[in-house]
Amino acid sequence: STTVPQKLTTVDQYKTFLDKYDTFLLDCDGVLWHGSHVLDGILDTVKFLRENGKQLVFVTNNSTLSRKNYVKKFEKLGIHASEKDIFSSSFATAVYLRNILNFPKDKRVFVIGESGIVDELNEVGIETCGASEDTGVIMAHGDFGSIEQDPTIGAVVCGFDININYRKLARAFTYLNNKEHKAHFILTNDDTTFPAPNGVFPGTGSLCQPLVSALKRQPMVMGKPNKPMLDCFFSNYHTDPARTCMVGDRLDTDIAFGANGKIATLMVLTGVSTEEEAVDPQQPIKPSYIIQSFGEFAKVGQQ
Ligand code: PLP
Ligand code: CA
Repeated sequence: STTVPQKLTTVDQYKTFLDKYDTFLLDCDGVLWHGSHVLDGILDTVKFLRENGKQLVFVTNNSTLSRKNYVKKFEKLGIHASEKDIFSSSFATAVYLRNILNFPKDKRVFVIGESGIVDELNEVGIETCGASEDTGVIMAHGDFGSIEQDPTIGAVVCGFDININYRKLARAFTYLNNKEHKAHFILTNDDTTFPAPNGVFPGTGSLCQPLVSALKRQPMVMGKPNKPMLDCFFSNYHTDPARTCMVGDRLDTDIAFGANGKIATLMVLTGVSTEEEAVDPQQPIKPSYIIQSFGEFAKVGQQ
């Protein structure tokens, strides 16, 4: 898009902006918090928006927690949320396998990832294997014979896994490399990095590269900014796209997600992308609006 983003700086501008939308899709890390530190003004902003009838949906590429466990994380941080307010890449993956791929009842999913993926898949009735099974397993060179083809594996789902190891990769590769049983290859999200206390750490998009490289096959990617996540979103929430705004800190995931869905976008400057990047004419992804932080909206309530 060639439109120049509008920077919101005054309380009057905040008010005019808020009046245009009923639903806000909120990216989490970089918008609401950094790690476990809630950003300034967030608690008051969330309270104020809800008191004014706004619907808030938390949209995160982080696949590590189930919605049930996200609710607990939100509560711990002092933000009330129920499961229906949370839309994560692990839940979207479950919805996609169940509703869009009609995943067969007699097949299982091999998971590289944490409990968020396993719990959400199990919740929609899909049996899983892998995940924590191989945590801590160290393979000895010359002892690779123990991984066999398994025709019950209908898909390999790869998400963030802090205990990723060679055995997990070798199993995933073996199942996906089977020419007779074509298993789906699904990545929860392809963020190459994510915010860490002192910069960034490698994300799921980086962790899956050994598989992509060995298989010479690209995975189907669920998370922001991709269409599967959007399709799952609009099939779950019946919001008016014209009155829905995506809020995020990253141009290449959050803002692109909103742009792909043809909804308004608000970029905050408390995360990964910078204002310079947003307004750079060479950079094609343009937010509709820019604001210093999402917590700024608390000022409207204080007036
Ligand atoms: N993936 C992992 C493993 C993360 O920890 C995070 C953020 O903490 C993300 C992805 C990005 O999440 P979000 O979409 O909420 O920015
Ligand atoms: Ca973010």
